[in-house]
Amino acid sequence: VIEEIKGEIEFKNVWFKYDKDWVLRDVSFKINKGDSVAFVGATGSGKSTIINLISRMYDIQEGEILIDGVNIKNLDKNSIRERISTVLQDVFMFSGDIKENIRLHDETISLEEIKEASEYVNADVFIKKLNEGYDEEVVERGATLSTGQRQLISFARALAFKPDVLVLDEATSNIDTETEVLIQDAINKIIEDKTTIVVAHRLSTIKHCNKIIVLHKGKIREMGRHEEL
Ligand code: ATP
Ligand code: MG
Repeated sequence: VIEEIKGEIEFKNVWFKYDKDWVLRDVSFKINKGDSVAFVGATGSGKSTIINLISRMYDIQEGEILIDGVNIKNLDKNSIRERISTVLQDVFMFSGDIKENIRLHDETISLEEIKEASEYVNADVFIKKLNEGYDEEVVERGATLSTGQRQLISFARALAFKPDVLVLDEATSNIDTETEVLIQDAINKIIEDKTTIVVAHRLSTIKHCNKIIVLHKGKIREMGRHEEL
């Protein structure tokens, strides 16, 4: 019997490699329900890898990953994904309209819920300006949308599923100032409301989180509140 996920995540002495070199070396931390945790560290330090492991994209070689006390090995990927929504660094968009891109063809998510999620993350600001609004077709994998707009769509997508945990790999790419403000406001709101795990590049995001974990070459170097580090 799979227990209901409530949003507590623990890494216990996790060792992981994609191929021959260890990418995570003896990583341990605990994230409680309602926490907001920011992972920071240089490029290649293992931040996105931790995100990938939380949604069980790969299995680890040593240690344990527990979700509400249950080993992730005993949870199937679909049940994990229903409860943990992940916003990746690169946003995937497909041909279809805006609303389908938000609900990912899950017809149990109503138009009302799509709009609610979009308003919450400020995505409605640009969607409302489109000729067809939520019915506007997304062409060529979102080529006509800016990076920031695609990021806002992916926030709405993640929240429309009403997850217990939101995992966010912040995009670093060029985002216009106006959209940047909307994104920042959305991230700060999500952090206050949900268990959030974020690979953070913005100082504002880091300041809003209640725990910062600094990674260095696959190991945890420091852990604490923003003011302590
Ligand atoms: P960035 O800030 O650039 O996003 P990161 O901290 O997210 O970096 P990771 O993507 O977790 O870093 O990568 C950690 C290490 O694992 C790097 O050495 C990287 O080259 C390697 N790596 C990442 N993904 C894979 C993969 N799919 N196959 C093999 N090696 C990988
Ligand atoms: Mg990364």
